[in-house]
Amino acid sequence: MQCLFCKVDNDKVVNSRTSVDGLSIKRRRECLSCGRRYTTYERIEENPLRVVKKDGTREPFDRKKILSGLLKACEKRPVSTDTLENIVNEIEREIYNKFDREVTSSFIGSLVMQKLRILDAVAYVRFASVYREFKDISEFIDELKPLMTGAKKKKKTMGAATPAVYLFNIRPEGNGA
Ligand SMILES: [Zn+2]
Repeated sequence: MQCLFCKVDNDKVVNSRTSVDGLSIKRRRECLSCGRRYTTYERIEENPLRVVKKDGTREPFDRKKILSGLLKACEKRPVSTDTLENIVNEIEREIYNKFDREVTSSFIGSLVMQKLRILDAVAYVRFASVYREFKDISEFIDELKPLMTGAKKKKKTMGAATPAVYLFNIRPEGNGA
């Protein structure tokens, strides 16, 4: 760190102390060029990541919202809360790695979709139907098709997509609406 007095960037930390509240670290530094000492404070970045919503408004990033969306999508599904917590952690990590100020809600939504798609077909469709705001039933069926093909391949194993179709009372070949 650049010396407060001689501006040379060559110092050593003489001692470090965490503040009482644990939110900052006070460091006593000694400039190896001029020998003077000064203090720096290190604290967590206080500008939280913000989420840009579809209408352009912003709100602080909140992992609890992702979790509650997941919980809703996975209601009565064989998915543990631990699994969902892990997904939220993964998503949060990915977001913080890629963005430092703002992230769009649609980016977060697409991450959630990716995870749910692998995890549970019913939860995926539930989430997608809310998040994607399908314009009509055919769009919705397009979203279901890949899942149904997957289920057919598995044959007698409990086709994951089947409950989704049942749940939403959609007949892929019929005039569902
Ligand atoms: Zn100095």
